[in-house]
Amino acid sequence: MPKYRLMTPGPTQVPEDALLRMARQVTHHRTAEFRELFAEALEGLKYVVQTSGDVIVLTSSGTGGMESAVTNFVPRGGKAIVLEAGRFAERWSEICAAFGIEVVKLEVPWGEAVDPAQVAALLADHPDAVAVYGTLMESSTGVGHDVKAIAEVVRESDALFVVDAISGGGVMECRFDDWGIDVLVIGSQKALMLPPGLAFVAVSEKAWQRAEAVDAQAFYFDLKQYRDKLAGDPDTPFTPAHTMIAALAENLRLIRREGIETVWERARVLGRATRAGITAIGLEVFAQRPADGLTSVRLPDDLDGAAFLKSLEARFGIKVAGGQGHLKGKIFRIAHMGIVDELDILGTLAAIELVLDQMGWHVELGAGATAATQVLAGRVGSAV
Ligand SMILES: *Cc1c(COP(=O)(O)O)cnc(C)c1O
Repeated sequence: MPKYRLMTPGPTQVPEDALLRMARQVTHHRTAEFRELFAEALEGLKYVVQTSGDVIVLTSSGTGGMESAVTNFVPRGGKAIVLEAGRFAERWSEICAAFGIEVVKLEVPWGEAVDPAQVAALLADHPDAVAVYGTLMESSTGVGHDVKAIAEVVRESDALFVVDAISGGGVMECRFDDWGIDVLVIGSQKALMLPPGLAFVAVSEKAWQRAEAVDAQAFYFDLKQYRDKLAGDPDTPFTPAHTMIAALAENLRLIRREGIETVWERARVLGRATRAGITAIGLEVFAQRPADGLTSVRLPDDLDGAAFLKSLEARFGIKVAGGQGHLKGKIFRIAHMGIVDELDILGTLAAIELVLDQMGWHVELGAGATAATQVLAGRVGSAV
């Protein structure tokens, strides 16, 4: 029986201290101890997001955070621009539709990145758009969007800029205050290395002001209720998932100890190493503007993709992710975020070669790991 090696872009591997924290007996949540821990976690989240403003903690998967980022800021009948460049960006459109919000889509072929100039053009055509919905790291395609440049464009308009950083937050450089982002959503089970179950929503002062004028189509996800509990010793309007928040505090300590910029840089290097390895194996990277936290790889037409992924898991315990939507059977995705390290990547590349070899595919054994180690040793520049 091989060891289980989770290499998917969510959920991700959970560090041992967080696992042990969750193994303890459950205590009560309306206590000074909880509020102290919650305050620490909130400080850590602000650090990860790089904001001095509020971060709201919701008990839900990331999508609940997305829903709150729609219903609190755009009224029914309002207009939103969605930068639709993948499966998760489509979700913004689906949520808007569910709440009677008019959607103007910037449709971008999957695998390509959003062009900020096109966002500017769309904003000029739709000056009544209340918000622009984008994505930091589109986990379905492996693209990292240029959120900084898009934010600059949106800042010129009246619209709020709302970013799905559910997987990208905590692994890709993103500076909420400096870049002028208004609302940003992160999930617990991606770069923050927790099990699924929490969503985090950073909100700018400008966004709070807009929210005051919106009669939110929300009760549980009414963010103002959560904000009002944050003053002083922070608390929550409903029972918090406090055992998860305790584990979160552990992980945020790890991130603070390493430094967020070091975390971002480590992922950048791992991404370069993974791409160098994949290319050396003779496979093709799918994303045109690759994200730092995951690598999407095109499955060759003449390879049985399902059998390939099954063998990786059966023989090596390596769980990577397949494609989603129309990319199912066309790509697979390897995560390099959280505690995924150099050896995880080297091992995954070697396992890919061994499985391909077993399937009768021509591979030069060791080529992937060799190319990746060149990057890790700093022998290859940042162009990879
Ligand atoms: C995982 C993910 C989501 C969905 O989050 P859930 O926790 O499954 O609701 C949305 N957007 C991106 C970019 C993701 O990676």
